[in-house]
Amino acid sequence: MKDRDKTKEQLIEEIGRLRDRLAQLEGTESIDRKAGSKFQGLLEAAPDGIIIVDRIGLIALVNAQAEKLFGYGRKELIGQPIEILVPERFRGAHVGHRENYHTQPRTRPMGAGLDLTGRRKDGSEFPVEISLSPIETEEGSRVISIVRDITDKKGVEQKLREKIREMDDFVHVVSHDLKEPLRGIEAFAGFLAEDYAHLLDDEGRRYVQFLKSSAIRMKDLIHDLLTLASISRKAPAQQKVDLNRILGSVEQDLSYAVEQKKVRISLKHPLPTVVCDPTRMGELFKNLLSNAIKFNTSSAPEVEIDLKEETGFYLFSFKDNGIGIDPRYQEQIFGLFERLHPQEEFEGTGAGLAICKKIIEGCGGKIWVASELGKGSTFFFTLPKRNG
Ligand code: ADP
Repeated sequence: MKDRDKTKEQLIEEIGRLRDRLAQLEGTESIDRKAGSKFQGLLEAAPDGIIIVDRIGLIALVNAQAEKLFGYGRKELIGQPIEILVPERFRGAHVGHRENYHTQPRTRPMGAGLDLTGRRKDGSEFPVEISLSPIETEEGSRVISIVRDITDKKGVEQKLREKIREMDDFVHVVSHDLKEPLRGIEAFAGFLAEDYAHLLDDEGRRYVQFLKSSAIRMKDLIHDLLTLASISRKAPAQQKVDLNRILGSVEQDLSYAVEQKKVRISLKHPLPTVVCDPTRMGELFKNLLSNAIKFNTSSAPEVEIDLKEETGFYLFSFKDNGIGIDPRYQEQIFGLFERLHPQEEFEGTGAGLAICKKIIEGCGGKIWVASELGKGSTFFFTLPKRNG
């Protein structure tokens, strides 16, 4: 009797194992039929979650990583609307974006410049990056979404931001502390030059001049360091700003240099109104425009400002017919205190473009340059349209 019971228990266990195995096979077999076993192997080996969605937004296929990311079994997902994986508050908008995608289907990141969030079965949320690609299958058009959990990346970014902030706080304090003694050096060098010049010989007077100009240069450097530090220390103002007005006031500020060099400035396309910090936009325009004027030895200097509207962002350009930039240094010049010319040739601190980069990146945009030596330079930058 005892033996019979044991055999019965073993049989029940064996049946249970076989059922599990069958369920596993059923799950993968239906996908195998659709996708082919090679594709299936690749799909399952992928480190990212892969979800294929049909034309009306129903999930047609998922890989193991997608199951793991969202905490659902694949059977629970197949045939469900993709919005099941989107937090409730974004679902309505997601349907619209999904419909839109079919009007211009191409491989691209989803929601460029936006923070995307996935929703697990248990309702918890996590940050994701998603790349979309259209594919044509026998059953009609499908969209492949590749989903990456970026929780770790976000954590590192946050730590980096904190460190940069700490460094900017430090720079701010040091620069402030330096201002006071520097003011003294500049003032006393001035007294020496004015009141005691008659007691000095030519060489002595030259030294005093050198002292004065060094103090002025250091003041400019400190001013730029403080500007740079303030960008990440202070939250930017958020107000509607007509960039045509900003450009107008920067042109006025630079009118002396413009008149001196007889620079022709043209605006090819009216600039938009965006939500941003007007002071920072002024700083950005001033740096780009003053560089376009300064690094220009043409007999007829020209600066052309243009705007293109792209999907999701504005593309601005400042094009000059100046001295140009060797392609080898075109990334380097956006670093702090990176200059390609001695002070005697072109004055400056080397902080202008680093400030521009920080301003633009703080708005979620990008800045870069296209140039050839002797053939002028075009500085491009983008601003997301959500700032508009
Ligand atoms: P600064 O103008 O004070 O030197 P920036 O950070 O604004 O500092 O620029 C860094 C360097 O990039 C400049 O010293 C110059 O060599 C180069 N540069 C910037 N703008 C231009 C331009 N429009 N044409 C040629 N070179 C440029």
